[in-house]
Amino acid sequence: MLDNTVAITPRGEDRIRIGHPWIYRSDIATVHAGPGAIVRVVGRRQQPLGHALYSDRSEITLRMVTRGTEVADARLWRSRIEQAVRFRESLRIDATAYRLIHGEADLLPSLVVDRYGDYLVVQALSQGMDRLTPELTGILVETLRPAGILARNDPRVRLLEGLEQTVEVLHGSVPPVIEVKEGLVEYQVDPYHGQKTGLFLDQRENRIAAARYARGRLLDTFSYNGGFALALAPLCDEVLAIDISEDAVARIRLNAERNRLANVEARAMNVFDELRELERRGEQFDTIVLDPPAFAKNKASVAKALSGYKEINLRALKLLRPGGFLVTCSCSYNVSEAAFADVVAAAAVDAHADVTVVEKRMQGRDHPVLLTVPETFYLKCLILRKLA
Ligand code: SAH
Repeated sequence: MLDNTVAITPRGEDRIRIGHPWIYRSDIATVHAGPGAIVRVVGRRQQPLGHALYSDRSEITLRMVTRGTEVADARLWRSRIEQAVRFRESLRIDATAYRLIHGEADLLPSLVVDRYGDYLVVQALSQGMDRLTPELTGILVETLRPAGILARNDPRVRLLEGLEQTVEVLHGSVPPVIEVKEGLVEYQVDPYHGQKTGLFLDQRENRIAAARYARGRLLDTFSYNGGFALALAPLCDEVLAIDISEDAVARIRLNAERNRLANVEARAMNVFDELRELERRGEQFDTIVLDPPAFAKNKASVAKALSGYKEINLRALKLLRPGGFLVTCSCSYNVSEAAFADVVAAAAVDAHADVTVVEKRMQGRDHPVLLTVPETFYLKCLILRKLA
């Protein structure tokens, strides 16, 4: 009988005890529920452990949303959404684009909601969240009154859930280009096709931090729409922004022009090749940003990722003038903060550079880390100074 109950093993109970909301397939004892259901989770003696979103496809079979006998109903979703929104309001973010709901860290596992001006972009990344989307959309409309809500349900992780990849308007209308402001920079964002939900919002506070040091000649690598380049350009003499994507480079140029930043040059190049070429030509920079995509998408690719991080950090430290600053990032959650620091240290040794850590940073505060869920801490950012 499908009474929406899932029983888990003692090892699953241990996971809940240490505060982790994910219960893997191997820790499931019995299932009486259909895909995407909200289920009652019980332990080996049938004791109630909480409620969860159930997936019949993913390795993450349960995503816990409550503990004990607390039910997961409309009242709960509303209070969690309101709590997430109030927290973002309290941050007094100097931008019209930021993350409103960051999944697990807002106790709304596998749900992302980003604000872009008057619009919201949402991602439902599990069967349970997919089924809840109409209900949650209703609450978002009542709470925030957006002009439109777009579902950017095209991330590949949806395939692991047996869900289709779709992009659709859920409420109101959403234009092909939304104008947003981050600090002094105005961006044109394409919510339908841009990476992630349109911008790399998680780097906003690191751009602000980098502005404390940026000067002289800036090299912004893996620039995408020019996030760091545009934020730092007013502080620098000249800026070279590099991204492999022609589309991204076209947007950097457009955004530079709209913001009247005449000192920004953008090139569509492979960073690995271009760093080597810049070194061969003996070029030097006062400020360098390294913000690559996640090199380690899974555990198997960690070793290769580390050699990638080593390579770009080594080249960057050679291109950096003494006294200059390197802003170096990793958004691979499979590469720990310690492993990342080690690999950058190894690069410094090989570059014969003495380097100090000026700031140790992470993703912006609108992308909080849930203390008991290491997976929610993914973005590492070191601001380094090369000594003379
Ligand atoms: N720094 C950006 C975000 C970077 S996302 C910001 O603040 O908004 C990573 C970017 O790296 C993507 O735009 C992708 O197109 C680019 N990229 C990936 N591999 C690359 C390579 N080998 N060379 C140059 N760019 C690359």
